[in-house]
Amino acid sequence: MTANPEIDSILQRGADGGRITPEEALLLYTDAPFHALGEAADAVRRRRHPEGIVTYLIDRNINYTNVCVTACKFCAFFRAPKHKQGWAHPIEEILHRAGEAVELGATQVMLQGGHHPDFGVAYYENLFSSVKQAFPQLAIHSIGPSEILHMAKVDGVSIEDAVIRIKAAGLDSIAGAGAEMLPERPRKAIAPLKESGARWLEVMAIAHRHGLSSTATMMMGTGETNFERIEHIRMIREVQDLAVANGYQDVPVEQSHDVGGFRAFIPWTYQPENNHLKGRTQATTIEYLRFIAVSRLFFDNFSHLQASWLTTGKEAGQLALHMGVDDLGSIMLEENVISSAGAKHRSNLQELITMIRTAGRIPAWRDTWYEHLAVHHTPADDPTDDRVVSHFSSIALPGGGVRKSLPLVEAN
Ligand code: SF4
Repeated sequence: MTANPEIDSILQRGADGGRITPEEALLLYTDAPFHALGEAADAVRRRRHPEGIVTYLIDRNINYTNVCVTACKFCAFFRAPKHKQGWAHPIEEILHRAGEAVELGATQVMLQGGHHPDFGVAYYENLFSSVKQAFPQLAIHSIGPSEILHMAKVDGVSIEDAVIRIKAAGLDSIAGAGAEMLPERPRKAIAPLKESGARWLEVMAIAHRHGLSSTATMMMGTGETNFERIEHIRMIREVQDLAVANGYQDVPVEQSHDVGGFRAFIPWTYQPENNHLKGRTQATTIEYLRFIAVSRLFFDNFSHLQASWLTTGKEAGQLALHMGVDDLGSIMLEENVISSAGAKHRSNLQELITMIRTAGRIPAWRDTWYEHLAVHHTPADDPTDDRVVSHFSSIALPGGGVRKSLPLVEAN
C-alpha cells in the first residue's frame, strides 16, 4: 500500500493482469514508490512464471558488415560506404564464427549489420540459407525491420516479398533491433535517416502475419521525455494486440515457432562512447529499473521481459530480477555493436547462473523460443564449461577480426 489511493489501485490492477492506460503508466513511472512498483511488477512475473525460473541463453552476435548508409547518431559501430575501416565478411567467415558458437553450446545466432548499399534480398537469402544448411540446429534470430526495409528498397520489392523470401531461406525470428525510440521527435533526433517508428512497427506486423515472431527493444537515455518512453511501449502494445488477436500466445511453446508476435520486451540503455551524441544524456539505473517495472505492468500481452545487464551492469541486471524480469538474455559469445559504444560489462556462464540463483530464482538455460533446455535446481546441476564467456569488440579489431578465433579479445 502507498499513501496514494489512485496509485494503489493502478498497481493492484496491473499486478492482477488488468490493463493499465498509458496515462496511468506515466503516473506510475513518475510517482509510484519504488518498492511498491517493484512488488507489483514482480507479482506479474510470479503469475506468469510461477515456478520461479529465470532464463538465460547462449548465443553469438555475428556482424556481416559495418558499412551503413543510415548513419545513426548514437551508433559507434558503422562506417560510411568507402570508409577505409569498412568491412563485409565473406560467408566462410560467418560460418567459421557460427561453428565456434555451436562448439560452445550456442543455440542461436544473431546476424546483425549495417545497411550496406549493395545488400538486397538475395544477399540475406544466401546468408541465412548458408548458415541454416551448415548448422540446422542454430536458430537464426537476426536483423530487424530496418534491414528488411533496406533490402526491399535495394531490390525494389515489397516488404511482404522480402519477408517471405528470407523466412523461406532460414530466418527463424526477427530481432527487435532498430526500435531505438519509436515516437517521432526523439527518433528523428537520433536517427534522422531511419524509417519512422510507425513504419518499424508496420514491418513487424507484416512479419507477424507471415508467422515470424520477434522481440521488441527500446534504447533509453538519448534525451527522450518520460511521456515519450511510455508512448514507445504504447505503440508496441498495440501491435502485440493484433498478434494476440491472430492467435499468438494461445499455442503451446513448441508450436509458437510459426505464429507471429513479440516474445519479449528488452529495454536497454544508450552507451555514450565513440558516437555523435557524445553521451549528452543517459538513463540512470533507477530510471531503468522503474521503467522495467512499469513495462511489466503495462505489457499485459507479453510473456517475457528481459534485462540488459550488458548495458546497465550486472548489479542492475540482478536488481531487475526483483522488478518483474524473468530472463537475463545471453552470455553473448561475441558482441560488437553496443560494446563499440562503451558497454564494458562481461560475464560468463557460471556468473550469470549465480546472479540468478542469488536473486532467489531458479536458473534455466533456454532456447530462442523460451523452451527450457536445462533447469539448474541446485549448484550440482550447473554446467561447468568455462569457455562460455562474453567477448567484445570490433573497434579493437582491424577488419572486424577476420580469421580470428574466440577469444577475439580476452574478456576481463
Ligand atoms: S544503428 Fe544500425 S542502421 Fe544505425 S548507423 Fe548503426 S549500423 Fe547503421
